[in-house]
Parts: sequence; C-alpha cells; structure tokens
Amino acid sequence: MRDPSAGPRVMLKRLRELMAEPLEPQDRLDRIVRQIAQNMVAEVCSFYVLRADGVLELYATEGLNPGAVHLAQLKMGQGLVGTIAAGARPLNLSDAQSHPAFTYLPETGEEIYHSFLGAPILRAGRTLGVLVIQNKAMRNYSEDELEALETTAMVLAEMIATGDLKKVTRPGLELDLSRPVTIDGDAYSDGIGLGHAVLHEPRIVVTELLNEDIDSELSRLEEALGSLRISIDDMLSRRDVSMEGEHRAVLEAYRMFAHDRGWVRKLEEAIRNGLTAEAAVEKVQSDMRARMIHMTDPYLRERLHDFDDLANRLLRQLTGFNVKAHQAEFPDSAIIVARAMGAAELLDYTQSKVRGLVLEEGSVTSHVVIVAKAMGIPVVGQASGIVSMTENGDPIIIDGDDGNVHLRPVTDLESAYAEKVRFSARRQEQFRALRAVEPVTSDGTAVTLQMNAGLLVDLPQLEESGASGVGLFRTELQFMIASTMPRVDEQEQFYRNALKQAEGRPITFRALDIGGDKVIPYFRAAPEENPALGWRAMRLALDRPGILRTQLRALLRATGGRELKLMFPMVTEIAEFRAARELVNKEVGHLSRFGYDLPRKVELGAMLEVPSLMWQLDELMREADFVSVGSNDLFQFTMASDRGNGRVSNRFDPLGRTFLRMLRQIVIAADARGTPLTLCGEMAGRTLPAMALIGLGFRSISMAPAAIGPVKSMLLPLDVGKLEQVLLPALDEVDPKYTVRELLSDFADANGVPL
Ligand code: PEP
Ligand code: MG
Repeated sequence: MRDPSAGPRVMLKRLRELMAEPLEPQDRLDRIVRQIAQNMVAEVCSFYVLRADGVLELYATEGLNPGAVHLAQLKMGQGLVGTIAAGARPLNLSDAQSHPAFTYLPETGEEIYHSFLGAPILRAGRTLGVLVIQNKAMRNYSEDELEALETTAMVLAEMIATGDLKKVTRPGLELDLSRPVTIDGDAYSDGIGLGHAVLHEPRIVVTELLNEDIDSELSRLEEALGSLRISIDDMLSRRDVSMEGEHRAVLEAYRMFAHDRGWVRKLEEAIRNGLTAEAAVEKVQSDMRARMIHMTDPYLRERLHDFDDLANRLLRQLTGFNVKAHQAEFPDSAIIVARAMGAAELLDYTQSKVRGLVLEEGSVTSHVVIVAKAMGIPVVGQASGIVSMTENGDPIIIDGDDGNVHLRPVTDLESAYAEKVRFSARRQEQFRALRAVEPVTSDGTAVTLQMNAGLLVDLPQLEESGASGVGLFRTELQFMIASTMPRVDEQEQFYRNALKQAEGRPITFRALDIGGDKVIPYFRAAPEENPALGWRAMRLALDRPGILRTQLRALLRATGGRELKLMFPMVTEIAEFRAARELVNKEVGHLSRFGYDLPRKVELGAMLEVPSLMWQLDELMREADFVSVGSNDLFQFTMASDRGNGRVSNRFDPLGRTFLRMLRQIVIAADARGTPLTLCGEMAGRTLPAMALIGLGFRSISMAPAAIGPVKSMLLPLDVGKLEQVLLPALDEVDPKYTVRELLSDFADANGVPL
C-alpha cells in the first residue's frame, strides 16, 4: 500500500534542497511553486504574500499567467484568497467559481480551473500569506492533501519570516511582518522608552523544519512528551505550599492537555508529513492559535494561553533551549513584552538595560507595576495582542504617558520620540535641580513629600529624588521575591540595610501585607473565592501571630537605638490595631529581657484603607500615633471596584466627589485630634490628584520616587488658600455642572500650576 505521507515527504525534501541552492529569490520562488504543483498533481500553485497595507500580492505562480506575478492583488477578505487570509482557515472547494466570495481576476487567466485548495501561511497565529493549488477538473481534495499543503505553508512562513523575500519586494510595499503597529493600551507608569523588544517568554524559533527520518522524530516527540508529563506530575505531586489554588489548577489543565490524544495525534501526523518534532509542535500550535485567536470567551482564551505555555515547554525540551544564552543576547535598551508577569521576574532582568515593560494584561496597581514604577520603568498594560505581534529584537517604543506602544515604528515617529526623550531628560534635569528646594507652596504651606519603597534597590532614589523619607515601606515585597519565608536574622539584616541606606531619613515600615493581590508563593493558604475580602494582612497576622512576631522582632532589633515607625495594613476594626500594639509590647518585653538594644521610640500607625474605619475615626485618631491613608485599597473597597481588574479599575474616578468627600472627612478627624496624617496610594504621585489632596488638607503624601520632582514643581507656585476656595465648596455641590477634575484642571491652568 502507498504510504500517504510519502508524497509530502518527498516534496519537503525537494523544498529543502531548493532553499539551500544559491538561487535568485524570484527564481527560487518560481521553482518552489512548480515543485508543489508537480508533487500535488495540481495544474496551478500560487503563493500570495500579505503586505503591510493589507493587500495580498501574488508572489509566484505555476499555471496562472506569469505576467500576473506582483500585479494580481486581493484585499484582506476579498475573493477566496482574501477570505482564507482573513479567517486564517483553509478552503477546500470542488467548484471555486460557485463560491460566493469568488472574485475573477482577468490578468490571471484562472477561469478554466474549477477545484481549489487554499491554506493560510501562519506564524505564531498571524497570517503572513496564502498558498493555493487549483485543478481544471472538479476534484475533491482529501484531508491528507490539505494537511500536506498546510505543512508546506509552514515552510513558506519561515521563508517570509526570515526576510528571504525582501529582495523581491517592491520598494514602499513592505510585507505585513514588518508592518508598523500601534497598540493603544493603558498608561501604568510614566515615561518613554525606546529600544528593542524582548519577549519575556521567548518564542523558540524552530530552524530545523524538515525531518530526515520519521521514526527518529516520532521517538524524539514521544520522549519529550514523556519528560514533559513527568515534570508536570512531579510539580503536582510535590507537597509544596505553592501548589494550592490557581497554580495547581493550571498545572492540572496542563496535565490534561499533555495527555490529550487529539493533540498528540496532530503532532504525529505533522511529523509523518515530513516535519521535525519541533516544527510539528509549532505548526499544530500555530493552527490552534489562528483558530482560537478571535475568541472572546475569557475561559477559552485562558485555555489557549495554557496550550501556548505547554507548547513552549515542549519546544524547550525538544530544542534544548537555553534560557541563559537567551539572556546573553539581551539588548542594551530592552523593552520587555509579556502577557503577565510577577514582580520577582522583573527583578531578574539586568535593571540598567530595561527601558520599558509592556503587558498584554495587568493593571496599574498590580505588584509588577508598582515595582516597575519604583524602578522608574515606563509601563503600558492591556496592550492587546502585543505578544503574538512581536518578534524578539523588533524595534519598539513604549509611551507610558499616553499608553501607546509602537511596534516597528516608522523613522519619523522614532525621531519624534527620540526628541521627546531628550526633552524629558532636560525636564528631569530641572526636577533634579529642585531636589534641595523645600516643598513649600507660594502661600507658605509646607508639604512633606516622601517616597514609597519596598526593596533595597529603591533606596538610592531617596537621594536622587529629594524625598524627605520613606512614607511607605512595603515589607512584603522582600517576602514576595524570596523563595522561602525569610528568617528573623535575614529580615533584621534587610531592615538594617534599608535604614543604613536611608542615612538618617525616616522610614515608615508597614507590617507584612499579604493576601489579596499580594501573593507569597510559598505561603500556604486555602483557595478563597474572594481573596481581596479574605484572610489577609492583619487578619492573617493576628490569627497566626508567629509570622508577625518574627517580623516585629526583626524590626525592633534592626532599629535598636533609633526610632521605629511602623504601621499596620488593612485595619478593619480598632480592636485589631489594639491587638497589634499588644504584640509589639510583648516583643519589646521579650527583647529587653534578653538584653537587646531597643528602639529609642516606637511610633505605631494604622493604615486607613478599609471603609469601616470611617465610623471609628475618632478612636482611630486618638489611639494611633499616626494614620496613613492607603487610597488604592480604600478606593477599591469604597467603590467595590477591584484594583487588579483592568475592566473596572478605571471605571470610577478617585477625583469624583464621593471619594474626595471621604478623604476630606479623614483630614477633619485627624486635625481635630492633631494626629499626623499622610496618604501613600498611587494618587499621591499624580500631579492633579496630588494638588487635590493638598486642597483637601493633606500636608504629607508619599509616592513613587519618580513622582517627587513633578509633584514638587506643581506645588511650588500653588496658592493653597485659593485652591481651597475652589475645591471645598465644590465637594458639597448636589447638582454639579462640572466634575471636580475639570474644576481643578481649569484652576491649574488659570493659576500657572504645572501639571
Ligand atoms: C494602598 O492600598 O493604597 C497602599 C498604599 O497599599 P498597597 O498598594 O500596598 O496595597
Ligand atoms: Mg493597601
């Protein structure tokens, strides 16, 4: 019996030879289509390539009028070829002309051909062109023939992607692969970065496409699948604390997919048709992505991501991909492109080379963004489709001011941005010149500007930014990037280092705030349906006092002889704050019994980030040594709007009257008791909201270090008395004509306040 895959294999072998021969590109293309036609017993074989302007151009043909090459063109969605490209799906027709999409192109002379088989040329789920065969007779092409054509299309995809066709591309008509793309995402961290793309999960480029020997490729695949399954089983069977909840669910899905017969069968089929095992993985994945890419169902999209990740793992097994070598090729100006990312992963990169971060998902208050901000790296999130459109090394510009990402930008745009970067460097110079200037408004109101930190890498920014201290030190970041729970002496050393680097400027430490969006991978916690409202922060700390006591011990020891400023997160009832104070007292007693050098003074504060405290303001202001408003959480809980969910996080405005009235009440309560008050959420670092806060009566705010300069330059010319007259009455308006944001922005314009 004839082996059905013998045909494609012979063809692929011939194609490989053709690719290796020293031929002129057009000549090579012509021979390739002739070869395909011959092998597939077709009278016509045509190769269309998608251009940057969305037109599919005939690049080579066997059988159609040769004069039509580079002249015959179809738009995306136009004709049969355009339909295949637009839908990224093949078409198999015994009578092409009766298909409703059929468009007659007189220059090709194709009217005499009836049957038609066309396959999209795909790479990473993107359509790069279309490959077609045609016959005069009304022929029904078999599944095997379609499979063979799709496999061949893959070889052509590689040819397009490696830039082989550049020499036959007419000037001004670039190919789609090099098309400039602008993606409108969300601005998460200010600044502009120019550089080259680095895919966080590197796409493995398969270079060996065609196999020499089917059996050995099948056994390579089997072996790789075997190790993949074992590694997943291993991860699942580890009694590891990180194996709870979400992570486990993902791995279980992986295990299911790794055993999926349909998937394995498709892989084997592609190998039988002549591909290497890795090329088979790439092909099957590309087909799947192309079919699933338009789906909007979030569950199915997530499954597609799972399959992608799995295919990537398999590719790594097969190609022996070396992550270290990949990092060695790291460009000097790198813009990291990722679907999503953990804070720790960002820190793994060489910081001095990272110029920006683009996330396909993410949200402004997720920790990777907070860390990036602390490091002064521009971030754009919700950049939809960026990962599949980017090739490693593509030129890319990230605009963290307006949320745009420009992939493969045209020269004019690139020079405009380069100019913008020079301009902003000059502005940074001006901000730097303000470092030593006291933050006092034009009518004599002093405002304390502190910075937020959480890692030692942040602390040099104290000097750089001119912040007077650290208003929020997120101690959980150290825990989040560690692989095991830091021991008491490690914690002590860390806090000691932080204080040393602060060179006498005060640091307000925040006790561990874990749970919710702050995930510590090694910390065992049962999965929760609603983690933001779950067992977290103070709740967890008071139920399991061992963790908090260890931290208190480390902090007290590290601040021996100095002042300790410490605040507690997510206080919901005043009783929790009292309980925390008790724990501090116990630790102080313990340490003094053992003869430790104790802090000179201990100031204990509460974070106001749960709305319930609004009805305990009096007790709070009386009992806490200071209060710090965590506006990120206070806003999310007040508006019932998840800070980590891009869909709702921007739905309501923190400068809306609702939230501002709340903040004003807090200021009044603090003033009444003389309790020091500060605010350390993200709004403090944006000039307009920061101006609003000063107008509401805040005299201390804490923000990302990069925001200190702009906020200081905003407040120097500010007349607070005048601002209060505009802002405070506006808060009480019942039927307002203007939003507070509009009023404030007009005020700034009219009074020369730079925003
Ligand atoms: C806040 O909630 O506003 C805050 C400062 O804390 P975090 O962002 O770490 O939750
Ligand atoms: Mg918070």
